[in-house]
Amino acid sequence: METASKIYLSPPHLGDFEIEYIKKAFESNWIAPIGPNIELFENKISKYLNEPVHATALNSGTAAIHLALQLLDVKEGDEVICQSFTFVATANPIIYQGAKPVFVDSELDTWNICPELLETAILDRISRYKKPKAIIAVHLYGMPYKVNVIHDIAKKYDIPIIEDSAEALGSKYNGKYCGVFGDFSAFSFNGNKIITTSGGGALITKSTELKSKSIYLASQAKENTVHYEHNNTGYNYLLSNVLAGIGVGQMEVLNNRIIARRSNFEFYKKYLSQYDDISFLHEPENMFSNRWLSCLITTSFELREQIRLELEQENIESKPLWKPLHLQPVFKDCLRFTNNVSENLFDTGLCLPSGSNLNQAELIRIVSTISKVLENK
Ligand SMILES: *Cc1c(COP(=O)(O)O)cnc(C)c1O
Repeated sequence: METASKIYLSPPHLGDFEIEYIKKAFESNWIAPIGPNIELFENKISKYLNEPVHATALNSGTAAIHLALQLLDVKEGDEVICQSFTFVATANPIIYQGAKPVFVDSELDTWNICPELLETAILDRISRYKKPKAIIAVHLYGMPYKVNVIHDIAKKYDIPIIEDSAEALGSKYNGKYCGVFGDFSAFSFNGNKIITTSGGGALITKSTELKSKSIYLASQAKENTVHYEHNNTGYNYLLSNVLAGIGVGQMEVLNNRIIARRSNFEFYKKYLSQYDDISFLHEPENMFSNRWLSCLITTSFELREQIRLELEQENIESKPLWKPLHLQPVFKDCLRFTNNVSENLFDTGLCLPSGSNLNQAELIRIVSTISKVLENK
């Protein structure tokens, strides 16, 4: 029997015009990390966000988080509070700085950082004369965290927030786009994200001065002299003008990608909610999720595995939700404030194929495979 073609979790999806912007880069010989596509891409991002913010195009979302920590002067021995339920790239830059992550678990309403635990963690660290230098909160899978509540707590204790918006381009909280709330914010344009430059990211800052500082650090901290003069340690983090060309084209189709991803989610919800053993994270009233990945929750680890393996059998890729960072061996010695929420989600949750280029036949194939498991249980 012929096997059906593979359905991937979240593949890239190009529009019609990316190649034109790349061609322009070639024709003008701007095959460099400077050039007209960079500025075009950065302006499209900040214009999209619809607030007075500034975007610096970088070669990854990880680089954006790292530069944000640098700009907040996070140093060796400092502590940084970090949402535990996330991809490892949220926390790695804390380690690059020689600082220590303090992991905080999630709440059920959004799967993001739990306000009560956050305050508990802050008070505990302050009582030990270790006031956190920053907080990294994440809009996981495109669902915003409780921005007002979390930012009120941060303000109360005067701690800056880095908003990890890597999965949330186009998501909104109270009508405003994710990425405009934090002191700094990071986007990712990695191959699996809602739009991609094959690899890339952006740092969002609130002033042209901070944007300039980020470019300085991202280009080897070269001083403004004729010869190469360096007073600080810099990085090689700028995006190339060629890849920015892909980004310009992708920004033009972003809203279509959000519509497509949200409609994937609605399809899964419509055909799978009827089963008592399946549930979904619903959108709180003041939030709009880009539904970067559609996730379902089962009633047990065993059932989740049964569904995952059946999908695999049918050549359909699915993945458990992120493993909480406080469970990762690499972070075993880090402080943590936990409540079991992220551990349960990790045990029972599954990310379903969520590409904006999924077609109806593929969606039906996925839902039928899952239904088969649930009906034969
Ligand atoms: C993808 C991602 C990042 C890192 O982005 P890269 O561009 O891959 O470096 C950071 N945080 C989260 C939550 C992500 O999903």
